[in-house]
Amino acid sequence: MIPVTKPYLPDRKKLDRYIDGIYQRGWLTNNGPLVQELTQRLEDYLGVENLLLVGNGTLALQVAYRTLNISEACSNRSGLEAVTTPFSFVATTSSLKWEGVEPRFADIDQKSWCIDPQRIEEAITERTKAIIPVHVFGNICDVNGISEIARKHNLPVIYDAAHAFGVKYHGKSILTYGDASILSFHATKLFHSIEGGAIVFRHKRDLDKARKIINFGLTSPDTIGELGINAKMNEFQAAMGLCVLDEIDKNISDRKKIWETYKQELSEFFETQERYTAATNNYAYFPLLVRDESKVSEVIELLKRSNIIARRYFYPSLDSIYYTESKHMYHSREISSRIICLPVYSGMHDKDVEKIIALMKRCA
Ligand SMILES: *Cc1c(COP(=O)(O)O)cnc(C)c1O
Repeated sequence: MIPVTKPYLPDRKKLDRYIDGIYQRGWLTNNGPLVQELTQRLEDYLGVENLLLVGNGTLALQVAYRTLNISEACSNRSGLEAVTTPFSFVATTSSLKWEGVEPRFADIDQKSWCIDPQRIEEAITERTKAIIPVHVFGNICDVNGISEIARKHNLPVIYDAAHAFGVKYHGKSILTYGDASILSFHATKLFHSIEGGAIVFRHKRDLDKARKIINFGLTSPDTIGELGINAKMNEFQAAMGLCVLDEIDKNISDRKKIWETYKQELSEFFETQERYTAATNNYAYFPLLVRDESKVSEVIELLKRSNIIARRYFYPSLDSIYYTESKHMYHSREISSRIICLPVYSGMHDKDVEKIIALMKRCA
């Protein structure tokens, strides 16, 4: 079977050596040496400061909201809102609801599939506490347009950068935009630690606050500061992360080859995402649009008969699940209804890529 993605499994011997070290130290979690080492190595690799490792990407979002006071628990008001995109993985929006914040959707740009700054401005009300954009499939948002709106309305911006590992814009990490950016290190992501995630803060003071929040709000072994949760990464996750990071360049170059073959062979037959050319590509996903929704089922069925699993990312458009307004997010619904992600992972055989291309051409 050819799945849409396969978790990257790094060199086993190296992982065993890290695990031997964990056994010798008997230090399994609570900011252990491997978590500290991974933090440093990721800051160097990504070119960022103030990076905090956490248990998963969803917790990264929730802790970021709390740290920047975008949560009902941080406020004596109810009816808080945040402006976000309906075209994302469900966690972007469900994490807001979980914190008692109502999502107010702003439609996406029909070419880049990222949130449209003009629509953000229209969705802002006096209840808006933040803007939560997503770098969809690693294609960066209009970060300058978003910064301008955020400044004008004095709102914090938290980027869901779960897809944007390693992406640079004019030579600088995309994670340095906004007040914070979050990453997911789930097994299916480009870089992973089985489960895991990170928050990259603009300010050191926010990092310091979040560091306490992820450990129950403890400020010392017997003092409790503000409300916290358990969102810590453990040593086994960090060991996997360190091994995957050692091989990240090969992982990306393998995906690049597949991505570029798809692009070259299929872009005259199918609409694809228009990528922001001043930013780098990490080749994590290959989404394309087919003619209409009935074609989606047809294509998925055809691929499935050859044991190829393509997926409908992102479907459904989140405004059809978590709506607070009656207005339909036109572009998001339209693109969600026609989108398919083709398999891309390191270790995929050339002949499987060729087979997928041939099948897709039959569906054009
Ligand atoms: C994967 C993902 C998340 C959630 O991350 P987890 O580590 O799975 O909790 C959030 N947002 C986006 C866009 C994602 O793709």
